[in-house]
Amino acid sequence: MEVDTAHSSRPLAGAAAAAWAACANGVLLVDADAAGLPILAVNPAFCRLHRSTETGLVGASALLLGDSGPDNPLAAALRSAAAGGATESLLLRAGPGAPLCRWTISVAPAGPDAPRQLVCVVDDVTELHEQQALLAHLSTHDALTGLANRALFNERLQAAMAQAQATGGGVAVLCLALDGFNLVSESLGYVAADQLLISVAMRVQACMRAQDTLSRHGGNEFVLVLADVADSAQVHAVCEHIVRVIGAPFPVIGQSLHAGCSIGIARYPQDAGDGVTLLRYADMALSHARGLGGNQLRFFAAEMNQRTAERAQMEAALRIALIEGQLQLQYQPVADLQAGAICALEALVRWQHPVMGLIPAGRFIPLAEAAGLTIALGYWSLQRAMEDMAAWRSAGLPPVRVAINISPKQFRDAALPQAVADALASSGIAPAQLSLEITEAALMQDPLASDATLAQLKALGVGLTLDDFGTGYSSLNHLKRFPLDLVKIDCGLTGNIVTGADDAALVKTIISMAHHLGIEVAAEGVETEAQCDFLRRNMCDQVQGWFFSKPCDRDQVAGMLAARHALPPHLLRIQKQPRTLLLVDDEQNIVSALKRLLRRDGYQILSANSGQEGLDVLAANEVDVIVSDQRMPGMIGADFLRAAKNLYPDTIRIMLSGYTELQSVTDAVNEGAIFKFLTKPWDDDQLRTHITEAFRLKEIANDNERLNLELRTANHELAAANRRMEDVLRQKQQQITRDEISLNVARELLQFVPLAVIGLDDEGMVAFVNDAAERMFRQNGAILGNEAQIVLPELFPDGLAPSGSHQVDIDGRCFQVVAHPMGANSQSRGSLIIISVCEETA
Ligand code: C2E
Ligand code: MG
Ligand code: MG
Repeated sequence: MEVDTAHSSRPLAGAAAAAWAACANGVLLVDADAAGLPILAVNPAFCRLHRSTETGLVGASALLLGDSGPDNPLAAALRSAAAGGATESLLLRAGPGAPLCRWTISVAPAGPDAPRQLVCVVDDVTELHEQQALLAHLSTHDALTGLANRALFNERLQAAMAQAQATGGGVAVLCLALDGFNLVSESLGYVAADQLLISVAMRVQACMRAQDTLSRHGGNEFVLVLADVADSAQVHAVCEHIVRVIGAPFPVIGQSLHAGCSIGIARYPQDAGDGVTLLRYADMALSHARGLGGNQLRFFAAEMNQRTAERAQMEAALRIALIEGQLQLQYQPVADLQAGAICALEALVRWQHPVMGLIPAGRFIPLAEAAGLTIALGYWSLQRAMEDMAAWRSAGLPPVRVAINISPKQFRDAALPQAVADALASSGIAPAQLSLEITEAALMQDPLASDATLAQLKALGVGLTLDDFGTGYSSLNHLKRFPLDLVKIDCGLTGNIVTGADDAALVKTIISMAHHLGIEVAAEGVETEAQCDFLRRNMCDQVQGWFFSKPCDRDQVAGMLAARHALPPHLLRIQKQPRTLLLVDDEQNIVSALKRLLRRDGYQILSANSGQEGLDVLAANEVDVIVSDQRMPGMIGADFLRAAKNLYPDTIRIMLSGYTELQSVTDAVNEGAIFKFLTKPWDDDQLRTHITEAFRLKEIANDNERLNLELRTANHELAAANRRMEDVLRQKQQQITRDEISLNVARELLQFVPLAVIGLDDEGMVAFVNDAAERMFRQNGAILGNEAQIVLPELFPDGLAPSGSHQVDIDGRCFQVVAHPMGANSQSRGSLIIISVCEETA
C-alpha cells in the first residue's frame, strides 16, 4: 500500500477521542482533495473489520480498500463522491477475508484547519445478511426436507407453463403420497416418520432433472413439476422410476421399512390451463390411484372430475338419508357346519335411495366413512338390530345371535362400550346374542387403545369377531393378542379355495391356527357347494354366503328361522350316509340280475351301462363300492376303474368279468385301481360276501375319517373352552387385584382413624387391627390371626355378637364397643369392631 506521509490522522481530544475509539461502526476519513484519496484516519472498529492496524492503513490510498481490481465498486464510489457526485451506500467486504459490510459514504466540507473529507461509516452486516437469506429460504422451502414449498412450487409451475406456452411443450404436475404413511407415524412415532420423509425426498430428488421441481406441501404430500415434457410416455417413465426407488427398503431408526407410493398426474395444456386446476386434478388422480390399493399411477381423466362431483352429491344425499329414514337393515344368515342350522345373522345396512333404488353397503359405507357419517350410521344399525331381535323374540322364534359391523371410526369412539351396554339394557337382549365385527385395520390403528376397548366390550359379555381376515395385515399374531371369539375369512379368499392352491392352503392354516387358539372360524362369500364342501372337510365352523342365503329383510329372516332353514345333511361336518353301490355293465340283463341279487342286502343301488355313464353317476352321487364289467364299448372297465380311482380314491372298486386275459386288467390290478377281480358267471353267495367285505372296508375308512374329524372337533372345542376359561380367569384376576387395592386403601384409612378398630372374619378370628387398637391391647400379646374371644376376652364378656353395641371396662375405664356386620354394600364379610371411650367418662 502506497503511503503519503504528508497526510496523517490528527489525534482527537477528550470526549470526541473516546467516542471515536468506542464507536461500534468502523469509521474511515479520507482526504477528498488529495490525489489517490489517502486515508486520514481510521477508528479501532474499522481496523478490526479490515483485519489490519491503524499504522498500516493511515496514509494508504482508500482506493485500494474493498475488493480491489479494475471494477472495484468502492473506488468508483469514492471517486464519484470526491468529484462532487452522488454519495451512495455500498455492500462489500472491508478487505479480502473480511466480513461483509455496508459502506455509507458522505462528504464533510473543508474546515479552517482540515481538508474536505470523505467520511465512510462501515457496518458489519454479515449476520443480518445470513438471517435475511435464511428467512428468504424458509419462506420458499419446506423446513423438514429442504424441498420447495407451496409458494415456490407455484412460482416454478407458472414459469414452466409460461415456457411451455412459448415453446409449444408440456408440463406435468405429479401429486405423490406414501402408502400407509399414517401407520408408520402411529406405530413408530414422528421421529421415524420424519426420517422416512427426508429419505423419500432425497430419493425422489435424485430422479429429477435440473429444470424439474420437487416440493412438499405438508404431511406426506409431495408435488412435482416436470417442466418441458414431450409426452405422457416420458412422464410415465419418470413415475415408474420414482415408484421403483421408493419401493426399495428404507433404513429408519434401525429398522428396514418398506414404503410404497401412489402418484396422480395432471398435464398442461391437455388437462387444464391454470396451476390451481392442474394441482386439483393431479390430487384427484392421486385419490383414484390410492383407491386402487396403493403403488399405482393414475393420469387425470375427465370422468374423475365427474365422479368426484357425484361423490359430493352422494355424500349430501346420504346425510339426508340418515335423517329421513331411508336406511334399512338386512340380515344374512350364517350356517353352522356341524348342525347345519342358522347360528347367526349378520346385519347389513342398505340405502333405499329414492331414485337409485336399493344400494348395498359396499357402495356407500366407504363414502360414509370418509364423510364422518359411520358413527351415526353404526348406532342406527345397533338400535335397529335390537328392535328386530326383540320383534323375533316376541314372535316366539328361536333366539339367534346377530352380528353388527363396527366401522373403524365407531370403534375409536370412546362412547361405544356404554352405547352397547345401554342398547342391551333397554332391549333386554342377552349380551351373548350380540356380536360385534371389527376389522384388523381398525384394531391396528392404535393397538393399545384397542386392547382397552375390547376388554370393556368383552366385559359386557358380547361376542367379538375379526372381520375380513385374509385381506390387509392377516396377522396370526393379532388372533392371539386380541380377545376374539370368531374370525371371518374374507370373501376374496373364499372365492379361490377350490381353484387356487395357495388360497386353499392359507385358509387351512387360518382354520387350524384359530382352532389352536380356541377361536371359531366362519367363511364369508361362500357361493358354491364345492366351496362349502371344502370348508366342511377342513373343519371350518360356519359358512356365510349366497350358497346358503342372500341377505334378507326382517320378515324373510323370521320365515327362515321358523322353518328352521338349514344346510343339506351331506354338507355337514359329520354325517352318516346309506351304503351306495354302483353297477356298471353294458348288458342291461346283467345289471338287472345283479340288482335283484343285491337289493335284499339293503344297498342303495345305482347303475350305468358304460364307463362314461359310470363317471357321470359318480360325479353326482356319493358312492362307496363300484362293480364294473371289463368289456364295454367306448371305455373298457379297467380304464373306467382307473379313472374312478383317480377322481374318487375312497371308493372300493371290484371288476366282474368273463374276460380275464387282458394285460390292461393286470395293470389295473397292479396299480391298485381294482380291489377284487371276480369272474363271470358268478357265484351268488360268493359275490355277496365280497361286496359285503368291500362295504366293511369302506366303513372302516369312513369311521377313521369320522373319528379323526370328531377328535379334531373335540380338540378345538377344548381349545375354545380353554380360551373362555382364560378370559374368565383373567377377569377374576383383575377383580381380585381391584378388590385388593380397595382393601389396602380401606386398611390404610382405618390406620388414621383415632378410634381403635378391629376386623373379625365370619369365624370370629381377628383379621385386622389398626394402630390405635394395637396400642390399646399391647399387653394382650399377638392378636392378629387368633380367635377374638380368646385374645380379647375383656371386649366380649357376654360372647361374640355379630352386631350391636355394649360397654366394657378396660383398666378401669369405660369403653363403648360397637360391632358392624359387613357386606351390606360390598362383598366384604365378617364384622368391624369399633372401640371408643364412653362419653360420660371422656
Ligand atoms: P362385510 O362385513 O364383510 O359383509 C359381507 C359383505 O359380503 C356384504 O356386502 C355381503 O352382502 C357380501 N356378501 C355376502 N355373501 C356374499 C357372497 O356369497 N358373495 C359375495 N361376493 N359377497 C357376499 P355389503 O352388504 O355390501 O357390505 C359391505 C361391507 O359394508 C360389509 O362387509 C361391512 O364392512 C360394511 N357394512 C355393512 N353394513 C354395515 C353397517 O351397518 N355398519 C358398518 N359400519 N358397516 C357396514
Ligand atoms: Mg362383517
Ligand atoms: Mg367381512
